[in-house]
Amino acid sequence: MNDVDIRAQLVKWGKRLVDNGLVVAAGGNISARVGDTMFISPSGYSIADATEEDYVPVEISTGKILDEFPLKPSSEVLMHLRCYRVRSDIRAIVHVHPPILVGIISAGGMIQPFTPDSVALLGKPAILDYILPTTDVLARAVEEKVKEADVILLRNHGVVTVGTNLREACYKAEVAEDTAKSFLASRIIGTLKLFTESELEAINGLSSEQYRLEIMRKMQEA
Ligand SMILES: [Zn+2]
Repeated sequence: MNDVDIRAQLVKWGKRLVDNGLVVAAGGNISARVGDTMFISPSGYSIADATEEDYVPVEISTGKILDEFPLKPSSEVLMHLRCYRVRSDIRAIVHVHPPILVGIISAGGMIQPFTPDSVALLGKPAILDYILPTTDVLARAVEEKVKEADVILLRNHGVVTVGTNLREACYKAEVAEDTAKSFLASRIIGTLKLFTESELEAINGLSSEQYRLEIMRKMQEA
C-alpha cells in the first residue's frame, strides 16, 4: 500500500471509530506504517475531521517529522513509535477512549474475552494502571505490554490496539468495547462464566476462526 492509499484508509477508519462511539472530541489517535514511515493523526483534531493531507509523516527509526509538516503529530506519538519499533509485524495502531470499557477498568474491573469471537480477536488483553498521558513513561509501559498483547487497557484513560492493518486494529477496538458492554449486561443478571483453559484452546484451534483472522489480515482495502 502506498502513501496515498494509506492516508485514505486512515481517514476512513478514523471516521468509523468516531461513528461507532469509541472516542469523542479531539481524543484518541490512529496511525499506520509504510516502510520506515508512520502516518499519524494530527494533534488537536478529532479523528473524524482529519483529512488525508492532515496525517503527519514521522520517520519511525528517528522520530523525525518529515517534509517540514505544518501540523503537530498526536501527543501520543511516542507511544506509537515505541510500538512500531518493538514489533515489526505491527502496521497499524489505534488508541481510543471507549466509554463502557473505560468505566469498567477504571473502577478496578477487567475485561476477559468470554465469547468465541472475542477470544479469537482479543487474545489476552494486558492492563496498565493510570499513567499520565502523552509521556514517555506511558509510552515505555505500553511498549513492554505490546510485546505480549495486541490489546492494552489503560485504566482511567482508554485502550491501545495493534494489528497487521487498520482493519485489524480497529476491529480489536470495536470488539473490546462490545465485550465491555456484554460484561456489564452479565453483571446485571448474575455471575459471568469464563471459559476454561481447554475451552480456550478449542476456540483457538478452530479452523473457522483462523480463516476469519487470515481474511481480515489479507483483505485489501478498496
Ligand atoms: Zn488517550
